[in-house]
Amino acid sequence: MANIIDGKKISAQIKEELKEKVAAMGEKGIKTTLAVIQVGKDPASSVYVGNKKKACAYIGIRSLAYELEEETTQEELLALVEELNGREDVNGILVQLPLPSHIDENTVIEAIRPEKDVDGFHPESVGRLCIGQPGFVSCTPAGIIQLLKRSGIEIAGKECVVVGRSNIVGKPMALLLLRENGTVTIAHSKTRNLKEVTKRADILIVAVGKPKMITKEYVKEGAVVIDVGIHRNAENKLCGDVDYDDVAPVCSAITPVPGGVGPMTIAMLMNNCVEMYL
Ligand code: NDP
Repeated sequence: MANIIDGKKISAQIKEELKEKVAAMGEKGIKTTLAVIQVGKDPASSVYVGNKKKACAYIGIRSLAYELEEETTQEELLALVEELNGREDVNGILVQLPLPSHIDENTVIEAIRPEKDVDGFHPESVGRLCIGQPGFVSCTPAGIIQLLKRSGIEIAGKECVVVGRSNIVGKPMALLLLRENGTVTIAHSKTRNLKEVTKRADILIVAVGKPKMITKEYVKEGAVVIDVGIHRNAENKLCGDVDYDDVAPVCSAITPVPGGVGPMTIAMLMNNCVEMYL
């Protein structure tokens, strides 16, 4: 049976480490502040924003919450981002996605100053990751690298297959694995013979957004399987993109859903808020 990679435990360790760093920074008079902007009242976004505020409070990061009406115009939102860009007491700016359809997400992301882009979505942050320069890295893939490293899983030289090529998960994930010297393949909806591709993986990262799509036929015996997906099934229970019960017996390590990748995303956001001082 596979080792279960415990994202809850690892994210708790990271938060403890950050709490100590923030306390040490506080003694030197350095304060860190994250501004979180939510437009509208999407229930899932409200939960994510609430969790981010809680994590900030726990670690000792000041958070400023901006809860804007659904009808907020793009110009009004951009004006707020601009104001926060200019404020010296604000170190990080996060605009919770998705935004209402009348607002262009890319325009808003690009308006955030790259030095305050703690989500790592700005084209400059992505470009820096691509050419190996320091910069903010998208939190979910950064969290997956921590899960692997802190579970003692070597990446260098391994066949890594990432299924999914979104800008926030698949692409930065592939770049990070490459930075760690993995041999990386990216698969997507147009990939032919997906099972043959995924069966090559020593480390298989799945971010397809399709409940339980990956069954044991896609997985090589002894592979490490990381499941990024989050879904609610018919019984209102959380499940991932990987059919956990089917896959766990054939792999060497696996992340569960919930309690795998999910908790790492906020831990890495907190890390990004603190990292700029380290
Ligand atoms: P997207 O929908 O943006 O991207 C999905 C990707 O999967 C696309 O690149 C798509 O290919 C590919 N894909 C879809 N169907 C198939 C298929 N049948 N075979 C191969 N590839 C396929 O999703 P995200 O990357 O944003 O998220 C993926 C999952 O991760 C979701 O369940 C999401 O909820 C979850 N998530 C979890 C987070 C966490 O903190 N745990 C954070 C972010 C996301 P193509 O490009 O060709 O269309």
